[in-house]
Amino acid sequence: MPIQSGPERVNLLGLERPALEAFVQGQGSKPFRARQLMNWMYKRGEGSFEQMTDLAKVFRGELVQHAEIHSPDIVKEQRSADGTRKWLLKADASQAFEMVFIPEDDRGTLCISSQVGCALDCSFCATAQQGFNRNLSTAEIVGQVWLAKRELGEFERAREPGIDERIVTNVVFMGMGEPLANFRNVVPALRILMDDLGFDLSRRRVTLSTSGLVPQMYKLAEEVNCALAVSLHAPDDELRNELVPINRKHPIAELLEACWHYIDEQNGRSVTFEYVMLDGVNDSPAQARALARLLKGRPAKINLIPFNPFPGTQLRRSPATVIQRFRDELIQQGVLATVRRTRGDDIDAACGQLAGRVVDRTTVRLGSKLVGVAVQA
Ligand code: SAH
Repeated sequence: MPIQSGPERVNLLGLERPALEAFVQGQGSKPFRARQLMNWMYKRGEGSFEQMTDLAKVFRGELVQHAEIHSPDIVKEQRSADGTRKWLLKADASQAFEMVFIPEDDRGTLCISSQVGCALDCSFCATAQQGFNRNLSTAEIVGQVWLAKRELGEFERAREPGIDERIVTNVVFMGMGEPLANFRNVVPALRILMDDLGFDLSRRRVTLSTSGLVPQMYKLAEEVNCALAVSLHAPDDELRNELVPINRKHPIAELLEACWHYIDEQNGRSVTFEYVMLDGVNDSPAQARALARLLKGRPAKINLIPFNPFPGTQLRRSPATVIQRFRDELIQQGVLATVRRTRGDDIDAACGQLAGRVVDRTTVRLGSKLVGVAVQA
């Protein structure tokens, strides 16, 4: 879409249902028109008001003047040999963020970003190395899902009679950023993803992953009902303080209390604990047993993630046999554990490899020629 001049248009992808109704009313139309709009936007993937033929012409005119449906612009797309696709998306003239789609036999998972960069400084994560740039807006978060569905051809598929097969079946907030550090924009986005007039995803198919911002976890339990994943990575505070520095503020015991509260409050099944497997750091059988002691008898499952290396890191991935042994130990101790299959690592799309490289500033000055130009490694 061309860069707008004049008064700023409201991006409708950023408005959850009540806000959209209020906006529509503000344009002199009846609030139920919001339903029609949502149908066009979220079921049909329509981005042009002109095409929304069952809306009154005058109303369409108002919308064209005051609103837009705009998803982030694609800077670059990469495809992995295993079918994983990664998009580099434009945040502004010099910053970008990433989104990854992972197709599997029984589902398609879209991994989206909530911030450009990240402030949390976890030692094993590539995103941390670039520091924090800014929060993504609700429209930029929802816009990622909208864009992916367009790129993957899901909306066209839905238009064919008899076919109701989703391509994006699951959305995970496991891209760049700490979603709970962008609470204000993430919560409305979650609601739009799960609204039946929105993307209509069930609460089990939308997962927010957090490094453990405890106060925001309590707030989340009050505001929205989605699946929760927590990046644990260590069985004791001493090690977790090093790997996930936010632990110094909110240690493990406090974090786990917030997890169980979330499950109680939401009537949820379980929290998924992510645990990145780092060679010689957190992968011993004794550590597996300590981890099991923390989670045994609780509504918890553990997802072991083989560490994905990135330039400049000293850390190494645990050998496959060590990961298996760690998993077996957990299971023997009575805790549910799975190993995450590494996907898309040939295009740096695997967990912790998203860095949303900064676009070379000299190319940025070319303005409109930004799309498709090389990005700096
Ligand atoms: N900030 C959020 C979400 C983003 S990270 C969080 O911390 O949960 C998504 C998952 O990938 C987290 O569990 C994170 O710990 C993990 N991860 C980060 N870097 C990784 C790496 N290099 N290899 C494997 N997993 C990594």
